[in-house]
Amino acid sequence: MEHSTKTHLVCMALPFQGHINSMLHLAKVLHSKGFFITFVNTEYVHQQLLKHSGSFSAHAGLPDFRFASISDGLSPPDDDSDEYREDIRNILLATQENCPASFLGLISALNDPSSGVPPVKCVISDSFASFTLNATTKLGIPNVFYCTVAVCGFTDFYYCKDLIERGLVPLKSEDDLANGYLDTIIDWIPGMITVRMRDLTSFIRTTDRDELFLNFVMDGAHASSQGTAIIFNSFSELESPLLNACSSKLPPVFDIGPMCLLSQYIPNDSSTSSIGGLNMWREDLRCMEWLDEKESGSVLYVNFGSLTNLTSKQALEFGWGLANSGCSFLWVIRPDLVVGDAALLPQEFSEITKGRSFITSWCPQQRVLAHAAIGGFLTHCGWNSTTESICSGVPMICWPFFADQQINSKYICSVWGIGMEIDEDVTREEVEGLIKELMEGQKGKETKRKAVEWKEKAVEAAKPGGGSWRNLEKLIEGIIMKDY
Ligand code: UDP
Repeated sequence: MEHSTKTHLVCMALPFQGHINSMLHLAKVLHSKGFFITFVNTEYVHQQLLKHSGSFSAHAGLPDFRFASISDGLSPPDDDSDEYREDIRNILLATQENCPASFLGLISALNDPSSGVPPVKCVISDSFASFTLNATTKLGIPNVFYCTVAVCGFTDFYYCKDLIERGLVPLKSEDDLANGYLDTIIDWIPGMITVRMRDLTSFIRTTDRDELFLNFVMDGAHASSQGTAIIFNSFSELESPLLNACSSKLPPVFDIGPMCLLSQYIPNDSSTSSIGGLNMWREDLRCMEWLDEKESGSVLYVNFGSLTNLTSKQALEFGWGLANSGCSFLWVIRPDLVVGDAALLPQEFSEITKGRSFITSWCPQQRVLAHAAIGGFLTHCGWNSTTESICSGVPMICWPFFADQQINSKYICSVWGIGMEIDEDVTREEVEGLIKELMEGQKGKETKRKAVEWKEKAVEAAKPGGGSWRNLEKLIEGIIMKDY
């Protein structure tokens, strides 16, 4: 077989669904630009994907787009289980411990002349998979970071260090969670609007300086400074003050988003377009037919992403809020969404919502959000869900759970004007009220109008020739293809 002469890029995803989706969009865009791609997952995720992504094994056969996995030391997922069970902490710890060496092993193997693939020109890794630096530094290969969270989320993580230095974090005691301390104003983060501590990452709500998540996001954001360049999944108009502030202290910054939209402009007749999605759960496509029957803008879509957990009490509050709103809804309840009691919603709930509810465990979210029947999105504000909602012009009801979701929600509601936030201590009355407001009320109409405006701006950035494509060209010419 003739060896490819294409330039070889290795894309390393962080082992979580949202990060994988985002990296896959970028990898496809780069493939469509003529690069040879090796897309790398950790072994645990790789096994999970093999179970649920029909196209996964098939498109591994594309000559210049390959999948590879690196050992993370975790035991493989249970064969009979349909759930993605491994604890996030265990995944992070195992990744940090095992992946620096296994990634180095992979790159060395790819660079061996006997591998039959072109030598690796550049590594593109998730900003929070900075273990790749071990290999890229040793082998002298450029390492571009791809920040799969928003610029506001990245900035939030980056400045956790300053919160610690100023003595604001860790909290002095658990009392600070409820005594108003979290309302402390933070108005000194460059590029960021004035916020309260409770609008910043939930990971600062700890009394332990060594807390795993806090240090993981903070160190990840700072490690990005050691990269050759940083790509953001955002676009100038959406986050320009933050992008400007980042540019002054980081390696060259390229906003090339929203990536989920950019990848939609890949020509249909290219080989790239045969590459499907990667899912850790089985997609239920029946919900699309159900949506086809519904009136335009009449359905609320409810989905808390791939990592959020609800207590059974919270799930019941959401459930009864949905039921009492009288609105039609599509609710995705992952097998592991609710902690504790599995028999979540009583029979009465199904009777009351009959004909206007569809509940399933995983759906093709981007397609759902693009469906004309969807009028609103009750979301946990993960950055992928947020960008996918923006790209479809769908206004949001926000219930941020953790990580960057608090600051995303703040920007969604207070800066972009495309959402309304539910209190952390969710009640059915508030859920009902906000759904009615979003789907029928005056504020809902205004929020919808803004959402459509932002969609148009996103399209301007992401269509061929738009700002994000131009930034992509600059990245390719100035960073990836440069001789080092
Ligand atoms: N997603 C999906 N189907 C679902 C739920 C989620 O395809 O039923 C996708 C969604 O489109 C998004 C990702 O999973 O791309 C979730 O990423 P996000 O950043 O929103 O949240 P996370 O899961 O990281 O908390």
